[in-house]
Amino acid sequence: MILTGYKLKNGIIIVNKSLLEEIKTIFDLKEQGYSNKEIIKNCNNFKILKDLTDNYKLTKIKNMLKEKKYMGNEIYPKIIDEQTFYKVQKVIDEEKNIKEHKMKASLKKSVGTKEYTIFSKNIKCGKCNKNLGLIVINKESKKWYCSNKVRDGINITQDNLEQKILHMLKLLKDDKLKIYEVKEGKIRKSLETFESMQIRKEFLEEIEENKYMELERYLAFQKNIVREKYKMINLINYEEKTEKIKSFIKNLKEPLYENINENLFENLLNRINIYKKSIEFEFINEEKYKMKL
Ligand SMILES: [Zn+2]
Repeated sequence: MILTGYKLKNGIIIVNKSLLEEIKTIFDLKEQGYSNKEIIKNCNNFKILKDLTDNYKLTKIKNMLKEKKYMGNEIYPKIIDEQTFYKVQKVIDEEKNIKEHKMKASLKKSVGTKEYTIFSKNIKCGKCNKNLGLIVINKESKKWYCSNKVRDGINITQDNLEQKILHMLKLLKDDKLKIYEVKEGKIRKSLETFESMQIRKEFLEEIEENKYMELERYLAFQKNIVREKYKMINLINYEEKTEKIKSFIKNLKEPLYENINENLFENLLNRINIYKKSIEFEFINEEKYKMKL
Protein backbone atom coordinates (compact mmCIF):
# COMPACT_ATOMS: atom_id res chain seq x y z
CA MET A 1 0.00 0.00 0.00
CA ILE A 2 1.19 3.50 -0.80
CA LEU A 3 1.64 5.87 2.10
CA THR A 4 -1.00 8.58 2.57
CA GLY A 5 0.03 11.69 0.66
CA TYR A 6 1.51 9.85 -2.27
CA LYS A 7 0.27 8.20 -5.42
CA LEU A 8 1.63 5.97 -8.13
CA LYS A 9 2.24 7.39 -11.59
CA ASN A 10 3.92 5.44 -14.39
CA GLY A 11 5.41 3.06 -11.86
CA ILE A 12 6.93 5.68 -9.58
CA ILE A 13 5.67 7.22 -6.38
CA ILE A 14 4.91 10.91 -6.53
CA VAL A 15 3.40 13.39 -4.09
CA ASN A 16 -0.39 13.52 -4.16
CA LYS A 17 -0.68 17.30 -4.38
CA SER A 18 -4.29 17.36 -3.25
CA LEU A 19 -3.21 15.97 0.14
CA LEU A 20 0.06 17.86 0.54
CA GLU A 21 -1.34 20.79 2.52
CA GLU A 22 -3.28 18.48 4.82
CA ILE A 23 -0.19 16.53 5.79
CA LYS A 24 1.88 19.66 6.30
CA THR A 25 -0.87 21.16 8.48
CA ILE A 26 -1.00 18.06 10.67
CA PHE A 27 2.77 18.21 11.27
CA ASP A 28 2.55 21.99 11.88
CA LEU A 29 -0.15 21.60 14.51
CA LYS A 30 1.81 18.88 16.27
CA GLU A 31 4.93 21.02 16.21
CA GLN A 32 2.92 23.72 17.97
CA GLY A 33 2.05 21.21 20.68
CA TYR A 34 -1.50 20.27 19.78
CA SER A 35 -2.70 16.89 21.08
CA ASN A 36 -3.81 14.31 18.52
CA LYS A 37 -7.42 14.83 19.56
CA GLU A 38 -7.11 18.56 19.02
CA ILE A 39 -5.55 17.96 15.63
CA ILE A 40 -8.50 15.81 14.63
CA LYS A 41 -10.89 18.53 15.78
CA ASN A 42 -9.07 21.10 13.66
CA CYS A 43 -8.74 18.85 10.64
CA ASN A 44 -12.03 17.05 10.70
CA ASN A 45 -12.92 18.08 7.14
CA PHE A 46 -9.61 16.80 5.77
CA LYS A 47 -9.78 14.28 2.96
CA ILE A 48 -7.29 11.96 4.65
CA LEU A 49 -9.52 11.64 7.72
CA LYS A 50 -12.79 11.36 5.92
CA ASP A 51 -14.86 8.22 6.54
CA LEU A 52 -12.66 7.05 9.41
CA THR A 53 -13.96 6.23 12.88
CA ASP A 54 -12.64 8.33 15.77
CA ASN A 55 -10.36 5.56 16.94
CA TYR A 56 -8.94 5.07 13.51
CA LYS A 57 -8.44 8.81 13.04
CA LEU A 58 -6.29 8.79 16.17
CA THR A 59 -4.29 5.79 14.98
CA LYS A 60 -3.86 7.37 11.57
CA ILE A 61 -2.57 10.69 12.95
CA LYS A 62 -0.30 8.86 15.39
CA ASN A 63 1.23 6.72 12.64
CA MET A 64 1.60 9.58 10.19
CA LEU A 65 3.45 11.77 12.68
CA LYS A 66 6.02 9.01 13.20
CA GLU A 67 6.46 8.13 9.53
CA LYS A 68 10.07 8.81 8.53
CA LYS A 69 9.29 8.39 4.84
CA TYR A 70 7.74 11.86 4.84
CA MET A 71 11.29 13.21 5.05
CA GLY A 72 11.92 11.51 1.72
CA ASN A 73 14.02 8.52 0.72
CA GLU A 74 14.98 6.70 -2.48
CA ILE A 75 11.33 5.82 -3.11
CA TYR A 76 9.29 8.57 -1.47
CA PRO A 77 9.77 12.26 -2.32
CA LYS A 78 10.11 14.64 0.61
CA ILE A 79 7.00 16.25 2.10
CA ILE A 80 8.23 17.25 5.56
CA ASP A 81 11.63 18.77 6.25
CA GLU A 82 13.89 17.11 8.81
CA GLN A 83 13.80 19.98 11.27
CA THR A 84 10.01 19.86 11.51
CA PHE A 85 9.94 16.07 11.68
CA TYR A 86 12.40 15.82 14.56
CA LYS A 87 10.78 18.69 16.43
CA VAL A 88 7.49 16.79 16.16
CA GLN A 89 9.18 13.66 17.56
CA LYS A 90 10.34 15.73 20.52
CA VAL A 91 6.79 16.96 21.14
CA ILE A 92 5.52 13.36 20.99
CA ASP A 93 8.17 12.17 23.46
CA GLU A 94 7.35 14.98 25.86
CA GLU A 95 3.66 14.17 25.61
CA LYS A 96 4.43 10.56 26.42
CA ASN A 97 6.55 11.47 29.42
CA ILE A 98 3.85 13.70 30.84
CA LYS A 99 1.26 10.98 30.41
CA GLU A 100 3.44 8.38 32.10
CA HIS A 101 4.28 10.73 34.88
CA LYS A 102 0.59 11.44 35.47
CA MET A 103 -0.21 7.74 35.41
CA LYS A 104 2.55 7.00 37.91
CA ALA A 105 1.53 9.86 40.15
CA SER A 106 -2.09 8.83 40.29
CA LEU A 107 -1.13 5.22 40.87
CA LYS A 108 1.23 6.20 43.68
CA LYS A 109 -1.47 8.31 45.26
CA SER A 110 -4.00 5.54 45.25
CA VAL A 111 -1.72 2.67 46.17
CA GLY A 112 -2.57 1.02 49.43
CA THR A 113 -5.70 3.05 50.00
CA LYS A 114 -9.05 1.43 50.40
CA GLU A 115 -10.43 3.11 47.32
CA TYR A 116 -7.98 1.25 45.21
CA THR A 117 -9.44 -2.20 45.03
CA ILE A 118 -6.58 -3.69 43.03
CA PHE A 119 -4.50 -3.30 46.14
CA SER A 120 -7.04 -4.01 48.77
CA LYS A 121 -8.66 -7.25 47.85
CA ASN A 122 -7.64 -8.70 44.54
CA ILE A 123 -4.09 -9.79 45.21
CA LYS A 124 -4.06 -13.49 45.85
CA CYS A 125 -1.50 -16.08 46.74
CA GLY A 126 -1.08 -18.28 43.68
CA LYS A 127 -0.44 -21.28 45.92
CA CYS A 128 -3.20 -21.21 48.50
CA ASN A 129 -5.62 -18.67 47.01
CA LYS A 130 -5.62 -16.48 50.13
CA ASN A 131 -5.56 -12.69 49.92
CA LEU A 132 -2.11 -11.31 50.45
CA GLY A 133 -1.61 -8.90 53.33
CA LEU A 134 0.49 -5.75 53.31
CA ILE A 135 3.34 -5.51 55.78
CA VAL A 136 5.26 -2.28 56.27
CA ILE A 137 8.94 -3.08 56.59
CA ASN A 138 10.09 0.51 56.90
CA LYS A 139 9.18 3.94 55.58
CA GLU A 140 10.34 3.17 52.09
CA SER A 141 9.56 -0.47 51.84
CA LYS A 142 6.32 -2.39 51.94
CA LYS A 143 5.76 -6.02 51.17
CA TRP A 144 2.77 -8.16 50.37
CA TYR A 145 2.83 -11.54 52.10
CA CYS A 146 0.74 -14.66 52.12
CA SER A 147 -0.28 -15.36 55.68
CA ASN A 148 0.91 -18.91 55.10
CA LYS A 149 4.31 -17.37 54.69
CA VAL A 150 6.26 -20.17 56.26
CA ARG A 151 4.72 -22.78 54.03
CA ASP A 152 4.13 -20.84 50.83
CA GLY A 153 6.87 -18.23 50.98
CA ILE A 154 4.94 -15.99 48.62
CA ASN A 155 5.76 -12.30 48.79
CA ILE A 156 6.22 -9.27 46.60
CA THR A 157 7.41 -5.75 47.37
CA GLN A 158 5.05 -2.88 46.79
CA ASP A 159 7.53 -1.30 44.39
CA ASN A 160 7.78 -4.43 42.32
CA LEU A 161 4.01 -4.79 42.24
CA GLU A 162 3.60 -1.19 41.10
CA GLN A 163 6.15 -1.71 38.38
CA LYS A 164 4.35 -4.78 37.11
CA ILE A 165 1.00 -2.99 37.13
CA LEU A 166 2.49 -0.08 35.21
CA HIS A 167 3.95 -2.53 32.76
CA MET A 168 0.55 -4.14 32.33
CA LEU A 169 -1.05 -0.73 31.82
CA LYS A 170 1.51 -0.03 29.13
CA LEU A 171 0.76 -3.31 27.40
CA LEU A 172 -2.91 -2.42 27.41
CA LYS A 173 -2.15 1.06 26.19
CA ASP A 174 0.08 -0.14 23.38
CA ASP A 175 -2.64 -2.58 22.50
CA LYS A 176 -0.31 -5.54 22.93
CA LEU A 177 -2.80 -7.69 24.80
CA LYS A 178 -5.42 -9.87 23.23
CA ILE A 179 -7.94 -8.38 25.60
CA TYR A 180 -8.06 -5.26 23.44
CA GLU A 181 -7.22 -6.75 20.10
CA VAL A 182 -10.70 -6.98 18.74
CA LYS A 183 -12.88 -4.38 20.35
CA GLU A 184 -16.15 -5.71 19.01
CA GLY A 185 -15.26 -9.25 19.98
CA LYS A 186 -14.43 -8.11 23.47
CA ILE A 187 -17.73 -6.31 23.88
CA ARG A 188 -19.58 -9.35 22.62
CA LYS A 189 -17.74 -11.57 25.05
CA SER A 190 -18.48 -9.25 27.92
CA LEU A 191 -22.11 -9.14 26.95
CA GLU A 192 -22.20 -12.92 26.85
CA THR A 193 -20.78 -13.04 30.34
CA PHE A 194 -23.32 -10.45 31.37
CA GLU A 195 -26.15 -12.47 29.85
CA SER A 196 -25.07 -15.69 31.50
CA MET A 197 -25.01 -13.83 34.79
CA GLN A 198 -28.46 -12.52 34.08
CA ILE A 199 -29.64 -16.10 33.71
CA ARG A 200 -28.05 -17.01 37.04
CA LYS A 201 -29.76 -14.06 38.66
CA GLU A 202 -33.12 -15.12 37.28
CA PHE A 203 -32.48 -18.58 38.58
CA LEU A 204 -31.77 -17.16 42.01
CA GLU A 205 -34.98 -15.19 41.88
CA GLU A 206 -36.79 -18.33 40.96
CA ILE A 207 -35.42 -20.00 44.06
CA GLU A 208 -36.52 -16.99 46.02
CA GLU A 209 -40.03 -17.33 44.66
CA ASN A 210 -40.07 -20.94 45.66
CA LYS A 211 -38.91 -20.29 49.15
CA TYR A 212 -42.04 -21.80 50.61
CA MET A 213 -40.42 -25.02 49.54
CA GLU A 214 -37.43 -25.96 51.51
CA LEU A 215 -34.32 -25.44 49.50
CA GLU A 216 -33.25 -29.01 50.03
CA ARG A 217 -36.53 -30.29 48.67
CA TYR A 218 -36.31 -27.92 45.78
CA LEU A 219 -32.80 -29.06 45.00
CA ALA A 220 -33.79 -32.68 45.29
CA PHE A 221 -36.67 -31.99 42.97
CA GLN A 222 -34.40 -30.46 40.36
CA LYS A 223 -31.73 -33.04 41.12
CA ASN A 224 -28.11 -32.64 40.18
CA ILE A 225 -28.53 -30.03 37.50
CA VAL A 226 -29.84 -27.58 40.04
CA ARG A 227 -27.24 -28.58 42.57
CA GLU A 228 -24.49 -27.91 40.05
CA LYS A 229 -26.06 -24.64 39.00
CA TYR A 230 -26.45 -23.59 42.57
CA LYS A 231 -22.80 -24.19 43.20
CA MET A 232 -21.97 -21.76 40.42
CA ILE A 233 -23.99 -18.98 41.96
CA ASN A 234 -22.35 -16.44 44.12
CA LEU A 235 -24.51 -13.41 44.70
CA ILE A 236 -21.79 -11.05 45.84
CA ASN A 237 -19.67 -12.07 42.93
CA TYR A 238 -22.56 -11.48 40.62
CA GLU A 239 -23.13 -7.88 41.73
CA GLU A 240 -19.46 -7.11 41.65
CA LYS A 241 -18.85 -8.59 38.25
CA THR A 242 -21.86 -7.08 36.54
CA GLU A 243 -20.82 -3.66 37.82
CA LYS A 244 -17.38 -4.23 36.41
CA ILE A 245 -18.67 -5.40 33.08
CA LYS A 246 -21.16 -2.56 32.84
CA SER A 247 -18.58 0.07 33.52
CA PHE A 248 -16.15 -1.68 31.22
CA ILE A 249 -18.66 -1.52 28.37
CA LYS A 250 -19.38 2.10 29.18
CA ASN A 251 -15.68 2.84 28.99
CA LEU A 252 -15.35 1.07 25.68
CA LYS A 253 -17.66 3.60 24.08
CA GLU A 254 -14.97 6.22 24.57
CA PRO A 255 -12.03 6.11 22.18
CA LEU A 256 -10.18 3.14 23.54
CA TYR A 257 -6.59 3.79 22.72
CA GLU A 258 -6.38 7.16 24.40
CA ASN A 259 -8.31 6.24 27.48
CA ILE A 260 -6.63 3.29 29.04
CA ASN A 261 -6.12 4.27 32.60
CA GLU A 262 -5.96 2.51 35.90
CA ASN A 263 -9.73 2.76 36.38
CA LEU A 264 -10.45 0.90 33.19
CA PHE A 265 -7.70 -1.54 34.08
CA GLU A 266 -9.35 -2.12 37.42
CA ASN A 267 -12.64 -2.78 35.71
CA LEU A 268 -11.01 -5.32 33.46
CA LEU A 269 -9.04 -7.02 36.14
CA ASN A 270 -10.50 -9.86 38.09
CA ARG A 271 -7.53 -10.59 40.31
CA ILE A 272 -3.77 -10.70 40.54
CA ASN A 273 -2.17 -14.01 41.44
CA ILE A 274 1.28 -13.93 42.97
CA TYR A 275 3.51 -16.97 42.56
CA LYS A 276 7.07 -17.47 43.71
CA LYS A 277 8.61 -16.39 40.45
CA SER A 278 5.76 -14.86 38.53
CA ILE A 279 2.75 -12.62 38.66
CA GLU A 280 -0.44 -13.42 36.84
CA PHE A 281 -3.11 -10.91 35.83
CA GLU A 282 -6.52 -12.44 35.41
CA PHE A 283 -9.09 -10.43 33.49
CA ILE A 284 -12.88 -10.55 33.64
CA ASN A 285 -13.14 -12.43 30.39
CA GLU A 286 -10.91 -15.08 31.99
CA GLU A 287 -7.92 -14.16 29.90
CA LYS A 288 -4.69 -14.50 31.82
CA TYR A 289 -1.37 -12.81 31.40
CA LYS A 290 1.71 -14.00 33.23
CA MET A 291 4.90 -12.01 33.84
CA LYS A 292 8.16 -13.01 35.46
CA LEU A 293 8.92 -11.51 38.84
ZN1 LIG B 1 -0.44 -18.84 50.28
